[in-house]
Amino acid sequence: MRTALAAPLRKAKIKKGDQVQVISGKSKGQNGEVLRVDLKRHVVFIKDVNMQQRHTKPRRQGEQGGIIPQEGPVHLSNVLTYCDSCSRGVRKLCADTAQCKYFKNKK
Ligand SMILES: [Zn+2]
Repeated sequence: MRTALAAPLRKAKIKKGDQVQVISGKSKGQNGEVLRVDLKRHVVFIKDVNMQQRHTKPRRQGEQGGIIPQEGPVHLSNVLTYCDSCSRGVRKLCADTAQCKYFKNKK
């Protein structure tokens, strides 16, 4: 993955624990819970999204080495907050259910 090191973000709309949907890129269409937000690299780590194999050597005695699946980074611009009622990613989370219905009828 390209890592253009732009200025670190001061804050992101998406926070740890949020439900999000990936709207573009390799993991497009998947959704899950945000595990970590990296403001320096402008990426988030989402549970069970963009899984990668991480090869580790045992460093200490008794420690297990091997291949450990681990979440890979997803760029913040590829992620939207997930609205349960609309069943899709939204730029701004719907304030109430009525608004969600509006979205549903429109599309
Ligand atoms: Zn909604």
